[in-house]
Amino acid sequence: SSLFADVALAPRDPILGLNEQFNADTRPGKVNLGVGVYYDENGKLPLLRCVQEAEKAMAAAPKPRGYLPIDGIAAYDKAVQKLVFGSELKHVATVQALGGTGALKVGADFLKHLSPNAKVLISDPSWENHRALFTQAGFDVQTYPYYDAARKGVNFDGMLAALNAAPAGTIVVLHACCHNPTGYDISPAQWTQVVAAVKARGLTPFLDMAYQGFGFGLKEDGEAVRQFLAAGIGFFVSTSFSKSFSLYGERVGALSVVCTSDDEAARVLSQLKIMIRTNYSNPPTHGAQVVAQVLADDKLRALWEEELAGMRIRIKAMRSALVAALKAAGVTQDLSFVTEQLGMFSYSGLNASQMQRLRGEFGVYGVDSGRICVAALNEGNLPTVAQAMAAVLK
Ligand code: PMP
Repeated sequence: SSLFADVALAPRDPILGLNEQFNADTRPGKVNLGVGVYYDENGKLPLLRCVQEAEKAMAAAPKPRGYLPIDGIAAYDKAVQKLVFGSELKHVATVQALGGTGALKVGADFLKHLSPNAKVLISDPSWENHRALFTQAGFDVQTYPYYDAARKGVNFDGMLAALNAAPAGTIVVLHACCHNPTGYDISPAQWTQVVAAVKARGLTPFLDMAYQGFGFGLKEDGEAVRQFLAAGIGFFVSTSFSKSFSLYGERVGALSVVCTSDDEAARVLSQLKIMIRTNYSNPPTHGAQVVAQVLADDKLRALWEEELAGMRIRIKAMRSALVAALKAAGVTQDLSFVTEQLGMFSYSGLNASQMQRLRGEFGVYGVDSGRICVAALNEGNLPTVAQAMAAVLK
């Protein structure tokens, strides 16, 4: 019989499955809020002007496409350090990675060698790929409390208690800003408590930073990283530029491992390179070159910050507009939490059957958990969404 006779059909990715369903829907007014992608006011995926400018300059001085070093473009790695940590740091090992996901996987593979028996804790709920990726890397993945449905916020006491109960060496995946899927972040003062608990218990923090600049601003959103850096402990940071540069398909990200000495960082870097070398050898050239070019040029950098701020401000405006439209449609529940949430998503508080009604009756697609992508709202689709949500909320 065939080698593949007993291969089971894996369940489809719930969000990509939702996309397929959306594409098959023939209703003209359908709205896709299931994705984790920023669309502009015209419902289009933006191509940032700073990216276009950098690409123009690159096209004007074309370069051959040799292999990059295993850890990527050196200028890119340095630019990432400046952005994430405020300056270049010799005690931090930074490697270019295939998006935020690639950074998480390189980090997970390295951690599996370093602490093969460690448990991994992710937030409840979290980006679903956190569980899948760390499980695939060979870890036992459990959760710490995070979302408090009744209070529409973070169950911070529960989170802290779980950290304080975790065995030394436990890997704790933390969303550095703009928590996906809930949109709820903890405050700087709460981060101080998290850092203290992590340090006291000897845990290994892994900060996932996929949305720097979408919360309050590039610098503000770096608060958690800065606090961990100041604590003088080892930790991991994955960076993604998929959203902040609207470069989803280029796979531009980075992994930074903060060590406690320059010598440690050099040794860690050598191990990260083995993980990369034995997986995909070395990263691709184009996307990281674009990002490096933008970050290195004062004018392009200023343009990027302006465009990033534009995305952030538009999302916030859509949050307010959604709340106002729901109120106007007669919804009496307090929905102010939608405007307090940060980043591209909102945990709307709707349950699975309400989300299914949104899809079935109104062609409005969101995730059954109640997560909707507010970054996909615009003036054009807002009335449809508000009407549909109001209908299932009443
Ligand atoms: N972490 C989180 C929390 C995310 O939401 C995402 C993207 N949806 C990623 C990591 C992965 O980013 P990338 O597309 O750059 O791999």
